[in-house]
Amino acid sequence: MLIVKKFGGSSVADKEHIFNVARRCIEDYNKGHDVVVVLSAMGKTTDGLLAKAHEINPHPSKRELDMLLVTGEQVSVSLMAMAMGALGVQAISLNAAQIQMQTTSAYGNSRLKRIDTERVRNELDARKIVIVTGFQGINKYDDMTTLGRGGSDTTAVALAAVLHADLCEIYTDVDGVYTADPRIVPNARKMDEVTYDEMLEFASLGAKVLHNRSVEMAKKYGVHLIVRSSLNTSEGTIVKEEVKMEKMLVSGVAADRNTARISVMGVKNEPGIAFKLFQHLARHNINVDIILQSVGRHGTKDIAFTVARTDLEEALEIIKRHMDSLGAQTLESEEKVAKLSIIGAGMTSNPGVAAKMFEALASVGVNIKMISTSEIRITVLIDEADVERAMRSVHDAFSLGD
Ligand code: ADP
Ligand code: ASP
Ligand code: MG
Repeated sequence: MLIVKKFGGSSVADKEHIFNVARRCIEDYNKGHDVVVVLSAMGKTTDGLLAKAHEINPHPSKRELDMLLVTGEQVSVSLMAMAMGALGVQAISLNAAQIQMQTTSAYGNSRLKRIDTERVRNELDARKIVIVTGFQGINKYDDMTTLGRGGSDTTAVALAAVLHADLCEIYTDVDGVYTADPRIVPNARKMDEVTYDEMLEFASLGAKVLHNRSVEMAKKYGVHLIVRSSLNTSEGTIVKEEVKMEKMLVSGVAADRNTARISVMGVKNEPGIAFKLFQHLARHNINVDIILQSVGRHGTKDIAFTVARTDLEEALEIIKRHMDSLGAQTLESEEKVAKLSIIGAGMTSNPGVAAKMFEALASVGVNIKMISTSEIRITVLIDEADVERAMRSVHDAFSLGD
């Protein structure tokens, strides 16, 4: 068997954890399997590097930021190879340049395009454990890029796909995928199985247990994906196309704090205004999420929408430059907001679900600022300070807990 095993930052946070991971990998290797290991940076290294960068320059170049961030993963893979060496097993660490993990050119949020498998194959054939840096890539200028926060999951799934691995295991600091973040909702229930589609919603709506692109890729290439704990041997959660269980009306709750609201008020009430506004943002790669437009009155209307909080400053600058051509009167923004979502393949055309969610929010005095729905989710924008309370109340209302 060929197994890709990915370990997140907390799983390689210090010497003890590194040796724990090394031993788990060696166990599979000793059974005769080919083992590819993907690692994140140790503990909170990436946060630390980001803070250092901003101390030096509040608006660092995205290229230089990636150059800095990729160092974190390089530390963990080399130390892991040394740990395995100390345990008497041949291992080799490789970074994104060494295996030509090619990405799109945008820094900070690149997408993987192509991976060369030759080097990895050769090392596996030489009976080595191959340890690859997560999160990083190289672009057409031969510069280092990163895949966005949490991107090591995507590195692992991509490697599993191109190597036709039998299994891709994502090891983390919880036992699997839960009905809500178990750190916020103590009675959240671990799911034995979840579909790619539901997992994609969970991941995209803030459940950071898997990077959303990793789920997209796993679905596309049919990767056999499991999320499990690096600290125990419990079964974990299988992510797959179809699950055996009956479809739940609502399968879980997710929250995302990386969001901010922008309101552009008093824009001209005529065709093409929304197009112009969002085109300016799209040109700068700024993704817009929930959009709300008021009914036009006295020739003007208001447009409110959310962007990632990390994009807020740039988005505001862009809009400020175009206020006149949009005929906009005022620009406002709010940073301390969060998205709260319920997800469930079974909620399609079930009218009671939204009402029940809103009732659960009202019962704990949480005000809804914006609402957005799709066939398998309902998302509300609320004050960030309300998130944890809201999550627990909604989770209870749908009886999702143990
Ligand atoms: P890693 O460093 O291993 O990549 P992450 O911090 O990225 O770990 O992801 C794991 C964390 O995701 C957990 O510690 C948990 O707090 C959080 N999380 C959020 N939503 C969920 C969920 N639905 N199920 C499990 N974990 C979740
Ligand atoms: N080290 C990176 C981060 O903290 C990538 C990852 O952990 O997946 O975002
Ligand atoms: Mg992660």
